[in-house]
Amino acid sequence: MKYKIVKNYYNGQFVESTSTESLDVVSPVDGNLLSAVPMSTIDELNAAVESAKNAFDSWSKTPIKERVQVFFRYRYLLEKNFDELTELVSEENGKTWDEAKAEVEKSIELTEFACSMPQLVSGEILEVSRGVECRTEHFPLGVVASIVPFNFPLMVPNWTMPNALVLGNTMIMKPSELVPLSVQRMAELLKEAGLPDGVFNVINGGKEIVEGICAHASIEAVSFVGSTKVAKLVYQQSTHNLKRCVALGGAKNHLFVLPDANPSMTATNVTASMSGCAGQRCMAASAMLAVGDVNPIIERICDEARKVVPGINLGAVISRAAKERIENYISEAERGGAKILVDGRGAVVAGKENGTYVGPTVIDFVKPEMSVATEEIFGPVISIMRTETLDDAIAIENKNPYGNAASVFTQSGGAARYVMEHASAGMIGVNIGVPVPREPFSFGGWNESRFGANDITGKSSIEFWTKLKKTTTKWNPEAGINWMS
Ligand code: NAD
Repeated sequence: MKYKIVKNYYNGQFVESTSTESLDVVSPVDGNLLSAVPMSTIDELNAAVESAKNAFDSWSKTPIKERVQVFFRYRYLLEKNFDELTELVSEENGKTWDEAKAEVEKSIELTEFACSMPQLVSGEILEVSRGVECRTEHFPLGVVASIVPFNFPLMVPNWTMPNALVLGNTMIMKPSELVPLSVQRMAELLKEAGLPDGVFNVINGGKEIVEGICAHASIEAVSFVGSTKVAKLVYQQSTHNLKRCVALGGAKNHLFVLPDANPSMTATNVTASMSGCAGQRCMAASAMLAVGDVNPIIERICDEARKVVPGINLGAVISRAAKERIENYISEAERGGAKILVDGRGAVVAGKENGTYVGPTVIDFVKPEMSVATEEIFGPVISIMRTETLDDAIAIENKNPYGNAASVFTQSGGAARYVMEHASAGMIGVNIGVPVPREPFSFGGWNESRFGANDITGKSSIEFWTKLKKTTTKWNPEAGINWMS
């Protein structure tokens, strides 16, 4: 085992769990055992919440300009430990070095946004009647929780942690049991940055801890990122217990490709979107709506896909079970009459035979009712559906229950605008394969890709992590009596 057993973190201490149950942490790159992660007990969750509760009073009363100083130092430590973090993300998740590097870069950008928070939360004040002022101020909620998935071991935790903490909350984080090492390192860096003990806490585990978080009387808000199935459960359980909740779910992102699209830009973008991070991005292109005759573009996409080679510029998928699931989807489509133009099944990387790889896969003539057309595959697979008109393509996209992202490839401003208006997704791209809104814009989908009112990052997250206080004041008696008295 390369690393020691993963520990929980509360009261500023790394504590070994008393649980007798643990899971192996295996690198998808080569199948090597990296560590073990405890399935912590509810008593340990309670201890972490107690730690966060005790820290809240002092942290929330620390002026925001002082709180951000910790995050300037944290940002510096992310840079200082850049290569080590990149390696950790890559080995526990299976990403290529460049993809893992991008994840650390994005974590830095997210921290920079949090550092700008004092400029964004100054509140408002207005004289609303003679001598009478109304003002609004943002107040932290208290102890909040963040439950995160496997596909971005460092970036998704940094979607929530810096903003929530800078805004004065204290936090319990529940990492994915498949990739718990990056969050443990994040806790070490926050301690080194001078974050007071108890402000950030980590409890490892699975379903039982998640349910414990949703039920805990002292947790005010829950953010969740993961599959739609679990997002629904977390949203239902936590709002049933009267907590604020934003729960981001899965995705089935559609790309509209029109005959006037720039062929080389479209081919490289579509391929990068479907195969980047081995297709394990909630923003990955998964379905392509080929409107009219776009055969030359499809040929180029196949050429580009063939340049994506497992173990070289394509990382592993998270587990053997994921590899089997993805390959089953491809086989089912083939049996249903779809044409496999590029086939990634059975990929093996020499010297890493125990790694879990699926090669890039392009499936053409997919029917809209097939599982590869409707379900999230979460692998480097693109399902091409042919339509005669843009409206037919939009109808297919609109019918899908997810709504994270959609993109259109065209040189026509009118067609692009039409898709921008009619696609039923929270994040739209025009000639962009992965339309992630960067800070200060916020991240969040629609429909079954997000439950709850706010986005999880950017300016929208301020409303999620704070409550507004509205104060009305009058100091000068000469203002007299009016209807506000
Ligand atoms: P997952 O839903 O299996 O797990 C997410 C978290 O929930 C983990 O911490 C896990 O321990 C916990 N969990 C798992 N099963 C549970 C259960 N039955 N009850 C309570 N908690 C449970 O998701 P994953 O496989 O780790 O991540 C991949 C999924 O996340 C994909 O569907 C992907 O689209 C989605 N995702 C969405 C976004 C977004 O922004 N919408 C971003 C990243 C990932």
